[in-house]
Amino acid sequence: MYCPNCGTFNDDNNFRCVQCGNILQQAGPPMAGGYGGGDQEPAFIPNYLVQAILTTLFCCLPLGIVGIVYAAQVNGKNGAGDVEGAMAASQNAKLWSSISFGLGLAFLVFNVILQVAT
Ligand SMILES: [Zn+2]
Repeated sequence: MYCPNCGTFNDDNNFRCVQCGNILQQAGPPMAGGYGGGDQEPAFIPNYLVQAILTTLFCCLPLGIVGIVYAAQVNGKNGAGDVEGAMAASQNAKLWSSISFGLGLAFLVFNVILQVAT
């Protein structure tokens, strides 16, 4: 862009004119290409904590605890800016909660069958 004060050509990223020091951009450095918005609000990542706790209470305690551990990591990592880690922990929390739920359900069905059979 050209300096409105002295007409010297400046790089678009320059905050001040290289010739006269006139401020070229009022609102600070420009937004990096394609990163619209740019505020630091953490992305929303489901932590499956409720599912993990419920499966721990009603199904399989050991597997549910694994789910809770991963679920607890989601918010911690997300808050620390580790979005990839938070996503991975979220996936693990979902996985272990599902496994726990599935086994709990199988156990329940197995018990019902035993009750009916005897
Ligand atoms: Zn200038």
